[in-house]
This record gives sequence, C-alpha cells and structure tokens, in this order.
Amino acid sequence: MKMIFLGPPGAGKGTLADLAVEERKLPHISTGDLFRAAVKNETELGLKVKGILASGGLVPDDLTIALVKERLSAPDAASGWILDGFPRTIPQAEALEALAPADRVVNFEVADEVVVGRLSTRRVCRACGKIYNTKTMPPKKEGVCDACGGEVYTRDDDKEASIRTRLENYRRQTAPLIQWYGARGKLLTIDGVGDPKVVLERFNKALA
Ligand code: ADP
Ligand code: ZN
Repeated sequence: MKMIFLGPPGAGKGTLADLAVEERKLPHISTGDLFRAAVKNETELGLKVKGILASGGLVPDDLTIALVKERLSAPDAASGWILDGFPRTIPQAEALEALAPADRVVNFEVADEVVVGRLSTRRVCRACGKIYNTKTMPPKKEGVCDACGGEVYTRDDDKEASIRTRLENYRRQTAPLIQWYGARGKLLTIDGVGDPKVVLERFNKALA
C-alpha cells in the first residue's frame, strides 16, 4: 500500500504515521525528518535548506523531488510506504504521480486554533525524531527521549513566527492538493482531533 498523509502542520501526520507503521510493515518516509537529518549532518543539502526550515518556508520543488526520488528507490520502499509531508505542492504531486502513484491519500482535518496549540507544545527527539507534546504526551523524564535517550527539544520552526508562515504556506500551496487528489478518487478524509489512539482507530476503520 502506497499512502500519502496530508494535512496542515501539526495535524498529527507524523505521530499517526509512527503508530500506523507499527501495525503495517511499511516505511514511514517524512521529508521533514530527512531534511532535519541533512541539517544535523551538515551535508550539502543540509547547508542549503537550514535557513528555509528554520523560517518555516518550503524547500524548492527540485531539491525536494530529488530527495524523495532517491529515498523511494531504496529496497525497503519497493512495495509500499507512508509519505508524510510530501507532496506539499502541485508540481510535487505531479512528479510523484509519474514516479510511483499513491493508492490512497489520507487527509487529516484539524482546525487552525488546534494546530497552533499543538505546535507550540510539540517537542521532538533530536536523535531519533520521536514526537512528544508537553501537554498531552510528555517524555517520562523531561528533555530525554523514552525511546533512545536522545535530547528532546523544540524545533526552530515550532516558534510562533514560523508557525504562522507554515500555516500560510499550507493554505496557499498544499491545501489545493485536497481537491487535486479528490478529483482523482484517492482521497480519504479523517477527523484529526482527539487522542492519537482514537485517530488511529478512525484511520484503520476508514481504510478497512
Ligand atoms: P510540519 O508538517 O510539522 O510542518 P515537517 O517536519 O513535515 O513539518 O517539515 C518541516 C519543514 O521541512 C517544512 O516546513 C519545510 O521547510 C521542509 N519540507 C518538508 N517537506 C517538504 C516538501 N514536501 N516540500 C518543501 N519543503 C518541505
Ligand atoms: Zn529518540
């Protein structure tokens, strides 16, 4: 199964993808995680995108598409995947359609007020990418990842100015994909508000 998770920043795509891949043996491919790893490792790509990520802007399509092409050519991605954070623009969707069309596109619906609240309390493990929330899903020991002991920190783009930029970009560039995939008969819409376990149940029911 080839699946795309769509929705605004903070919709819970990454959290849900982590839960969903525990049940289905699929790789969880997050372009945000791939870019953050490149920044951390100071690769050529990382140096190019560091400032863009921090400000909440979108990485140019050519760089993003090249990154996804490479990742999807790995052996573990041959028979299926969950793509989280890609495509985010119509040109990216067209490129993916030509490369490896998704079977399903799952759109997580969450209101803006909820998203802003979630992003400002979100924390992430610097080492393994596991997602936490200070209010709803804190790590057992403050600042330390339950899974790997890594440092749990606030992403640069989870600060207020960048959150606003990301929501604007989402509305302008990414939300049109809802219609685009709807017209192609691939769209499933799920209410993304609530406990991740509840959202996971909705997701499993919708796919059944
Ligand atoms: P979120 O969904 O919480 O906004 P992500 O972790 O998916 O965050 O992405 C973080 C950042 O990585 C984005 O704000 C953007 O700068 C970059 N990025 C990720 N995916 C893409 C993409 N498909 N196209 C362009 N930029 C991207
Ligand atoms: Zn970790």
